[in-house]
Amino acid sequence: MPLKRRPKHRASKYGTNRPLGQRDSIVRTNKLFELFVHLAEKIFDGQKAGRISEGVISSFLAQVLHGVDGVAAALYSIDGDVIRLAGEYAYPKRFRHLLVQYRLRDSHLKKVVRRKKAVVTTFENEKIFPPQSGLPARFRSLPVVEIPVLDGRRVAGVVELVGVSLAGLVGMEELFFEKLSRFSLPLLHAFSEKKSRRIESPQYEPIIEGMADGVVIVRDLRILYVNAALRSMFGYDSAAPLLNKSIETIIAPEDRERVIERSRSRSEGKNVPSRYEYKAMRKNGTLFDVEVVVSAVPYEGGQAVVALHRDITLKRAIEKELQQSEQMFRNVIDGVLTVGDALVLTNLEGKVLQVNNEFERLTGIKKSDAIGKEFPYEWLLDEEMARYVLWIKELREKKSLRDFDIHWKDTGGKMISVSMNTTLLYNALNRPVAMMNMARDISERKNLEEINRLQLERLRVLYELSRTLTSLLKINEIADAVYRHLVEVLPFDAFFIDLFEETTGTVRNIICYDTINEKKVKVQPDKGESAIRPGTGIAKVIEARQSLLENREADSPEPVRHPFGDKGRRSLSLLYIPMFSREKTIGVLSIQSYTPNLYKESHIRLLESFANLAAIAFEKAKLYEETISKSIQLQNRNKELDDFTYVVSHDLKEPLITVEGYSRILLKDHVQDKNSAASEYIQSIIQSCSRMKGLIDDLLVLSRVSRFSELTETVSLNDVINEVLDDLKFSIQEKRAEIVAPRGEFSYQCNPTQIKLVLRNLISNGIKFNSDERPFVKITIEENEKRVLISVQDNGIGIEKKFFDKIFVIFQRLNTDHEGSGAGLAIVKKIVELYQGQIWLESEIGKGTTFYVSLPK
Ligand code: ADP
Repeated sequence: MPLKRRPKHRASKYGTNRPLGQRDSIVRTNKLFELFVHLAEKIFDGQKAGRISEGVISSFLAQVLHGVDGVAAALYSIDGDVIRLAGEYAYPKRFRHLLVQYRLRDSHLKKVVRRKKAVVTTFENEKIFPPQSGLPARFRSLPVVEIPVLDGRRVAGVVELVGVSLAGLVGMEELFFEKLSRFSLPLLHAFSEKKSRRIESPQYEPIIEGMADGVVIVRDLRILYVNAALRSMFGYDSAAPLLNKSIETIIAPEDRERVIERSRSRSEGKNVPSRYEYKAMRKNGTLFDVEVVVSAVPYEGGQAVVALHRDITLKRAIEKELQQSEQMFRNVIDGVLTVGDALVLTNLEGKVLQVNNEFERLTGIKKSDAIGKEFPYEWLLDEEMARYVLWIKELREKKSLRDFDIHWKDTGGKMISVSMNTTLLYNALNRPVAMMNMARDISERKNLEEINRLQLERLRVLYELSRTLTSLLKINEIADAVYRHLVEVLPFDAFFIDLFEETTGTVRNIICYDTINEKKVKVQPDKGESAIRPGTGIAKVIEARQSLLENREADSPEPVRHPFGDKGRRSLSLLYIPMFSREKTIGVLSIQSYTPNLYKESHIRLLESFANLAAIAFEKAKLYEETISKSIQLQNRNKELDDFTYVVSHDLKEPLITVEGYSRILLKDHVQDKNSAASEYIQSIIQSCSRMKGLIDDLLVLSRVSRFSELTETVSLNDVINEVLDDLKFSIQEKRAEIVAPRGEFSYQCNPTQIKLVLRNLISNGIKFNSDERPFVKITIEENEKRVLISVQDNGIGIEKKFFDKIFVIFQRLNTDHEGSGAGLAIVKKIVELYQGQIWLESEIGKGTTFYVSLPK
């Protein structure tokens, strides 16, 4: 067989020295088996006469078994104690010689006779064939099979097969042995009957004629005889065109010289192979491959050569196929999967038969060390063994398992994440024979997963921080929150936030955290704002407006940083990130670590995200602080204004009273003529004085309004309305006005004087600015959980829309023909706003006005 020899393989201490060979010999033997059966059937078809010559026996053995890679065969006849060799071993000479030695050990044969069953033995050639015998390493461990040839119940003989390829018979031996035994029997019969004939005369030609193989008898390179099989093989109808012709007639031109040379050598008694292949030529000139076995025979009174021909086109095809499948397997092992998969081929018990280069590369375990290892494998982690066993167990049901993530470790103990796929391998009889474990290094993927996990974790923390920050308005709380979140995702030993005040060029440290001791440290005790020290990280960042990473050597001459008074340690990795708000640098967030070269690009990016969030929060806090301080300022200013108004009004009233008093005296005592101009002027002065007094009183009321807002109680609005109506009863009567009070009982937490002022002004205006014949004022109150809504509706003169704002300004009056100072609505508005309420109105000239007051509860 022209199967390529495998490269030498180191024998392992585990016996079968070619594990991979075992696998490909399965493939090969399966194919051979088919071939074998095919050929055997052909031979026996041709032996209907039941007479078999010795030549046929040897040709059978030679053709069927000879040449099977690593298999030799012999047939023994057994007659009682007598064991005789019926058919020769057919194998390369050196091998044959060795086997002859073995043959002498007939105890095996006796065992077969006793048991009537095939016996499979592996003999260690080391013992029988010492290394100096020259036996190739691959034959040192040889399986031997002895198959009884049964004649009824009697063991008539033994077929002995020897060869490494037999290891591949796994799972098919019974079938194979039985067949072999069955058609070995006629061979034995032929032998024992001593019906070995010599091909001497044409009387035996019918036998040869009936043979399945093409037979040609040649002498002096001339064809003496061809049988039917040969004729049909070469496309001749009769023998005549070939007889007495040169053998060249049936040889392709390219092979003629070689074959003829060989024949010559043989006739000269030289040692030439009795079996070879050549390219044959049919009658029509087409070429095909034949295999020929030649032997010398006496023929028609002289020596001749009989050559049995076999068309090996089919065999070639099978060989090609074999080569392909073998090649494929080799590719699978060493080629395709080496791209990234480590491969471990084991038998069903888990013993390693083969590993590939990738396995060596990945684990650092040498092939020679891995092969023969049994479970538990050293490259599995102890803690994952059980998981692996469970997984492999599933293989029996599922036949192939995919994507099992597990760890291997290399010779250095480093963990490797692998994803395994395991498949059962089957022989031709569909029996599982081996497991192929493919492991792909997924450390990269794992790393990626780890990175993703980290990223997710960071995102989560950032998200939580942003949520936390929305509810924080105090700068210190914000700084604490930033610290608490950052410590979850970044390593550092010290944490700082310094806020920068651009207008003054100063910085203020608001947090300094000692991570190791988990405590806040005052970095600049009681200094508060301080000028930026040039050359510091903070100064650099504020200047450059970008993040700064400083890596220091433990013994660098840079100024020593040991923020927490720990003189023994100094910060070696320092990261400063500017915080921006609306293009302005508002501060610097920085972290420091005692570990050298700790921070990478990803840390900078992450800290920048924190700095951005912090910046927004600080800016918001700052705005809030400003708003608060502004509103406090405003409150203070309002109070000042009220005080001023009060004082001024009070002081103004004094001289006014004096003026009015003296005017009255003047009018009474010094003006006799009541109709004189002087009297008129003085009366006018008195009138103006009292009007001014009214204004001043109103101002006083307005300035005092805010004073009592703290003195609140639950006030019945119904009672307040009744009081107001009582106060206004004269004008109500005078104008014959109809007042509709609200339905239901309502109360409100407020100062009673203030709410009365509101209602009184609104109701009196409704009556006052009303020229209807039947004036009415309707008061309604609605409330819900959040507010009380009071409306005061009249059918009065109405207000032009453009004056809706103006009427709330103090001393602004639209109708001067009515009594009033124009302070009423200003007072109402001020009170409503004191309660954080709202006032608005709807009005239509000539139809009436509705004021609404909404007060929060
Ligand atoms: P006064 O009532 O002292 O004039 P107010 O501040 O109460 O001052 O009102 C300011 C101006 O708004 C009034 O002069 C009047 O022109 C207009 N006004 C107020 N209430 C009404 C109303 N219910 N209907 C029509 N005009 C009104």
